[in-house]
Parts: sequence; C-alpha cells; structure tokens
Amino acid sequence: DRLSKPEYLDTLNEPQRQAVVYGNGPLMIIAGAGSGKTRVLTYRIAHLIENGVDPFRILSLTFTNKASGEMRKRIEGAVGTEARNIWMGTFHSVFAKILRIEARYLGYTSDFSIYDTDDSKSLLRSIIKEYNLDDKVYKANVVYNRISGAKNRLVSADDYINNAVIQADDEAAKMKEIGRIYKTYVTRCFQANAMDFDDLLFNTNILFRDFPDVLYKYQHKFQHVMVDEFQDTNVSQYLITRKLSAVNRNIVVVGDDAQSIYAFRGANIENILNFEKDFPDVQTIKLEQNYRSTSTIVNAANSVIARNKSQLKKETFTVNEEGSMIDVIKAGSDNEEGRLVAGAIFEEKMQKSLKNENFAILYRTNAQSRSFEEALRKLGIKYRIIGGQSFYQRKEIKDILGYLRFTVNQRDEEAFKRIINLPKRGIGDTTVARITVTAAENNVPIWEVVSNIGNYATGRTITPIEQFGTLIKSFKLMIEAGKDAFEVSAHIAKVSGILKDLYEDKTVEGLSRYENVQELLNAIKEFVDSEENEDKTLSAFLQSVSLLTNADEPDENEDNDRVTMMTIHSAKGLEFRNVFIVGLEEDLFPSQMMLESRQDLEEERRLFYVAITRAEQKLTFSYAESRYQWGRLKMCEPSRFLLEVDAKYLNISQSFQREIGREGSSSSPMSFVKNLSPRRPTEPKPTTAASSHTPSSDFVPSDTHELVEGDKVEHSKFGFGTVVKMDVNGTDRKATVKFDKVGDKTLLLSFAKLRIV
Ligand code: ATP
Ligand code: MG
Repeated sequence: DRLSKPEYLDTLNEPQRQAVVYGNGPLMIIAGAGSGKTRVLTYRIAHLIENGVDPFRILSLTFTNKASGEMRKRIEGAVGTEARNIWMGTFHSVFAKILRIEARYLGYTSDFSIYDTDDSKSLLRSIIKEYNLDDKVYKANVVYNRISGAKNRLVSADDYINNAVIQADDEAAKMKEIGRIYKTYVTRCFQANAMDFDDLLFNTNILFRDFPDVLYKYQHKFQHVMVDEFQDTNVSQYLITRKLSAVNRNIVVVGDDAQSIYAFRGANIENILNFEKDFPDVQTIKLEQNYRSTSTIVNAANSVIARNKSQLKKETFTVNEEGSMIDVIKAGSDNEEGRLVAGAIFEEKMQKSLKNENFAILYRTNAQSRSFEEALRKLGIKYRIIGGQSFYQRKEIKDILGYLRFTVNQRDEEAFKRIINLPKRGIGDTTVARITVTAAENNVPIWEVVSNIGNYATGRTITPIEQFGTLIKSFKLMIEAGKDAFEVSAHIAKVSGILKDLYEDKTVEGLSRYENVQELLNAIKEFVDSEENEDKTLSAFLQSVSLLTNADEPDENEDNDRVTMMTIHSAKGLEFRNVFIVGLEEDLFPSQMMLESRQDLEEERRLFYVAITRAEQKLTFSYAESRYQWGRLKMCEPSRFLLEVDAKYLNISQSFQREIGREGSSSSPMSFVKNLSPRRPTEPKPTTAASSHTPSSDFVPSDTHELVEGDKVEHSKFGFGTVVKMDVNGTDRKATVKFDKVGDKTLLLSFAKLRIV
C-alpha cells in the first residue's frame, strides 16, 4: 500500500533510500556534491510525516530561507498542507522565532529589533567616538568582526577582556579596549531591545544554558532534527543542535567537507569530527553517485579537490553522459570578458533553445558583476543579481523600515537616529546627541525623553520633537487596534511624508526610489495575504525581512526567466544547466586576501569545487588579462586553479573561434591563437604557483615549440617525461606525456609550460 511503500522511494538509490527510511538515532551523511543529500532530507521529512510524525515536531535547518522554501514546497507536494507546520528555515530565522517566544527570559520583549550589519557598525562607530578612540586604529569594521568572531565562539565581553590579559603586551591593550567596546555595545543593544545577527545564536545558547525549563520544552518538542550543509555550521550553531537533540537523539546531519567555505566566519569542520564523539552510536551512510552533472564536470571537480590535503576520504562517480568539454574563455580586459561571456550565453541559448534561467554566472566578489550586466543588457538578455546592494539595503527602503522598526520598538536607537530628522524637521545632530545623553543621564529610554520632551528640555527644537513623538504614538495606536502589517506600513509611508518627498523628486533616481517603496509595500501585502504566515503583525513582517540572506532576494519582476549572477558563496546547494565561472585570475580567485596559509588556499580551492559542481550540463571558465581594480588598470595572470583542472577536460580553442561579443575588436583569429599563451612576451610574470620553484626563463610557454611524439620534456611540477601522444585540433593543442614520477598526464600546451630536454 501507498504508506508502506510510497512511489517516491522508487526514485532513490539504495543508500539514499536507507537514509530516508532510517529509524531513530543519530545519522550522518558526508558525501560529495550532487549526490542527493538535500533530496534525502526532503524525502525523509515527507516520509516521517507520512508515517504519522507531527510536522510541528520536526526541525529542519537549511542554508537559505529560499532553500527551505523549496524543500517545503516539495514536501507539500507529497504530504499536503501539513508541510507548512514544519519548523524549517535558517538557523537565524528559526532561533529568532524561538527567541521571540521566549524573549522575556532574557529581559527582551518579543518585539525586539534585529540590527543588521549597518546598524551594528553605526552603533560601534558612535561608541568608538564616545570613548575618544582613534577610529583608524579601532575601525568599526575590524571591531565588528572581532566581536562577531567572539560571539560565534561563545566568548562574552567579560571573557574577551579576561582573555586579553594573557596576550602579548601591545595586543593586550588593544584587546582590552575592544573588550570594553564589546561590553558597551552589548549593553546598548540590550537597552535598545535589539539583537544583532550573532546574538540570535549567542542568546539562544544563553537561553538554553540558563533556563533548563525552556531547553527541556524544546528538547521534547523536537522529535526530529535535521541539518543540511552541516560542514558550514559554527560552534554556536553546533551546540544548539546538539542540545536540542540530546533527549530524542534523532538527529540527521548531511554535508560535504569538500564544500566547507565559511571557515573565515567561524564555521568549523571539526564539527563533523565532534559529531562522532558526541554521538558515538552515530550511523553513517555513504552517497557516492552524482546525479547532477556530466561525467566531465564530476571528474574535473574531483581532479581539483584531490589536491587538498585535509579532507575526509570519499568517492564520487556518475553514470551520467560525458557531456561537453569545459570551455575556457580568455579575454583582454574585464569588459571584454563580459562581452565574451554574454556572447557565449547568447549563442548557446540560440543553438540549444535554452532559457535564460538555465544560465548562471558565478564570481568570487560582488564587484565583478558590472561588466556582465552591461554586456547582457546590450544583448537584451534578462538577468538577476543575487546579493550585492540588496533591495533591503537601499536607503529609501531602510528609511521606511526604520519607521516601521521604531513604531514596533521605541527603544531601537539605530532606527531612531535614522528617522528622527527624516523628512527634515530641523532636528540636527547636536539635538539628537543631547537627547541620547539626557536619556543616559536620567537612565531612561530615549523614547521616554522624546515623548515627554517638555519635561527634559526647553527651546526651539521642542516643537518638532513633540510632533515626531505624536506621530509615532499615532502609529502605535494602529498596531494596538490590531491593524495588520500592510495597513500600518501603507499609513506610515504616507503620513511620515517619505512617500511624498520621493514622489516630488522627478529625477530618474527619485522615480526608481518611489517605485522601490511601492515594491516594499507590495511585499508587505504579499506577506499579509500569504496563507503561510499566521502572524500578520508588523513585528512578524520585520522579523522575516531582517533575516533574509543574500540568496533570498525578492524577485522584483514577475518574469523569472533570467540569467542568475551571484557569488560562489551564495550559490551553495544550487544547480544550473550552464555555469560560467568568471574572473579566474591570480589574486582574484584565489583571492589575494586568502593566501596567507595552506588552510586559506585549501578553502579557496573548496570554493572552486563548489562552483564547478553547480553545473549540470556545461561549464565554462573565463579570465581577463587586465582589469580595473580600485580605479587602476591591473595586469592579471590566469588563476592557478585553471592549471589544476586536469587538462583533458578543457577545451580552449572553441571559445576563441567565436567572434560573438567581440564587436569593435580588430583582432583576427590568428591573433587569438597567439593570445593563447598565458603570458604575453612583453610582460613576463615569473611567478605563478605552478612554476614558482623554477626560474621562468627555463620554461617558455610550450606552444611556441613544435613538440612531437618521443620528445623528452621537463615540466615545472611533474618533472621529466616523454611525449607519447600529440593531439592537435584547431588551436587546441594537447600533449599526453608519460612522466617518470607521476605517470601519464594530458596537458594543454597553451597552459602547461614544458621544456624540451
Ligand atoms: P550539494 O552538495 O550541491 O548540496 P546534494 O548532495 O544536496 O548537492 P541534491 O541537490 O540533493 O544533491 O541532488 C542533486 C541533483 O540530483 C538534484 O537535481 C536531485 O533531484 C538529483 N537526484 C538526487 N538523487 C537522485 C536520484 N536517486 N535519482 C534521480 N535524481 C536524483
Ligand atoms: Mg544540497
């Protein structure tokens, strides 16, 4: 019958099926990309519900809200609307929800604000100023990262100050000072009834540590706990999941150590090792078959990741077809890279009648998107950028949200500072500072001073402050009268005067800002109308937006058929038919900032592995020989990662035979051939990673020689060998060399530096 053997079990391979129907107790799956880990979690949840588990008692933690949304939709397809009751989301959104319910234990109200990074840094800047510290030594950015790092290791401000004592002298003084800032920062957030992103995890840990009754409640509530992308959980997140599953012990974690890309943010691969210690009876299931990608892509990815020393041993294979080779596009400049990539997308779309949504362009940093945007726009190809200057980070949106936040939580100091003189009411910075100081001196909240300004001050500015107070009070009344998020927000946008100001600005930017605010109101309407949201209050809406991750951007247009552009970090877990990995240059990818140690390099390589494994059918690499960076033209070398991909999967010639996207370029096909050499003779750059141990003069790019079978050659890394096969196909020249030490290698002559001996 359907319950005991639902159809969906037939679409799983044997180890996947075992994981889906696995009974009670801890289970861990560490497996390669595209092997169905997320699919297993999805089916397992459906299976549990089919077998009578109450969805309210399932907790499932994912990497983005979007991922959990998609998972929920699939489960809903299998088990119906019951699926809406599953506790599912990112760590931050799930624990914000719990903190809101239990806020009073920690001295917060359930309407607490969530400070985003900008709010946190602005608060830090004011504290640094109040302490008269040199803001060049104590940069808000640096201090923020230190505090964030500490919180994620569960180090409190007092612990931080105490740790400072055991440091070397000059570092100790700085650490103590940062500790002092940290402490004040925590106090000020608390007074503002606000938590920052890291607090959502830090405070959950405090809640569960200090209030055993609360912990007990959730330990019993959650019968099943699942974690996707387990390799990227940090200590704080790990401890929460461990505590929550300590009673029922039904915890399933899935992940891939080769895709761990958040070490810089405190994610800790040791969690995987600790898991086995903390749950000694853990069962492990291996998934080895990749269903996502062609064998070319799977093998290329394997050839790259094999270079990492620190990794858990596992296999990944696929029975998918070989598919096409990986194209490599070389461009003269970043703008040309944009044109060539856009051209390649255009051509592939036409030839194979593909949709825009089949394509993704992945880059190392957000700043790289510009040249692709311009080129795609010229070709009339629609795209969407995920991350970067996000919708919710735009000024006009933050202004409205500032009003909404302050209406919900009048202790929110950062929201207050943003809106007190917006639209302009003649309340200057000095007045704002005086209000803040008065509040501190009298030990009362800012709102107390604002709403009773007559008791605290006299003078000209009293009237606008009183008016502001009255305005906010009228907004509060609407909430108290039970109006929903949309009714309150639409009213606030109008009555505050923000919408009017934007409307009167008839410039193109003004118009687009006006439309953005309308778009925000649409989003709030949608939130209120959605059946998935039971709580339709403004407070609930604010919480949902403050926890959106980069990958959760709303689609501003109905039309979803767009090329996706995003950083590799945000692409984790996703898949696209055609993937372009762009900007493959030394110092950009691997990033210059990440090259201080082998660990750093290995993390960058894992990032490259994540990027490669997003592709289903077709992968393309690109790099530019020069690009503007910080306003200066910089010459670039191809990334060492290009050399690390086994050359037999690469296809250089095709991309250069294309003229698409090269309009305005006078180069003839012949000059492309010449350009295939990774280094131009006029600009010798002696050190790439692969050749850094050898004087470059010994090794000229091999495509200037006529190699023939039988030639003895030396390679900078593989040592001596004999050419056993030459493969010349257009401009794409490969040599298979039998090396004395490492055996057969197929090398792309335009990359590999061989010396005839
Ligand atoms: P990543 O490590 O990138 O997160 P993953 O291990 O989570 O990958 P999934 O996203 O679950 O992998 O699966 C990859 C693709 O393979 C998806 O399109 C999925 O639907 C498909 N897939 C997984 N298992 C099977 C199967 N048994 N039969 C057919 N398709 C499958
Ligand atoms: Mg996955």
